[in-house]
Amino acid sequence: MQRLVLATHNQGKIHEFERLLSEHASEIQVLGLSDFPDLPDVAETGKTLSENAFLKSRAVAKFTNLPALADDSGLFVDYLNGAPGIYSARFAGYQGQNANERDRLNIERLLKELRSVPKANRKAQFNCAVAFTNPNLDFEVQEIGTLSGEIAEAAIGDSGFGYDSLFIPQGFEQTLAQLGAGVKDRISHRGLAMRAIVPSLSKHL
Ligand code: IMP
Repeated sequence: MQRLVLATHNQGKIHEFERLLSEHASEIQVLGLSDFPDLPDVAETGKTLSENAFLKSRAVAKFTNLPALADDSGLFVDYLNGAPGIYSARFAGYQGQNANERDRLNIERLLKELRSVPKANRKAQFNCAVAFTNPNLDFEVQEIGTLSGEIAEAAIGDSGFGYDSLFIPQGFEQTLAQLGAGVKDRISHRGLAMRAIVPSLSKHL
């Protein structure tokens, strides 16, 4: 069986990746970073999602000597000139390890920044860059996905992670956290980027 390392610790992303990969390539054994506890943290020093995605896939591929898939994603809010963007995970400045607490504080900060901003000015996009590096074939590729929508006035819904409870995708009335995994996988920035990359990924494992 072919093996692939997912270069993320984020459990929400791992579940999404596994669902998306199983739709297309069920014969792949997916390993996570927890399978490589000695792997040093990769500093996300890039200025764009694309740069950071390649930094992660290259570092993990080099360390493990296995094909690696990495994503970098973020929420870009028009009214905030694209913030939090590449800093989405750290928007509220939380440095701890508790993902739920981090998400809660990020949501609180975003709602504060958009307080009294009318619906028409609450447009935003989720963007995702997915990078694949196979060190054995000297092959790499990257794909981008975008989901447009707007920021709700309060967090609603229990599904997903991050800013899902605040994001109403274009053409829908509910947040991603209300719409659930099935709808999210079909329309999401990560789903689009993943579906775009899977064909070249399965050819180059
Ligand atoms: P990354 O791990 O550096 O890619 O950080 C991305 C951050 O952007 C996450 O921690 C979330 O806060 C946010 N984010 C990215 N994708 C999503 C998504 O699909 N739903 C909700 N939040 C997301």
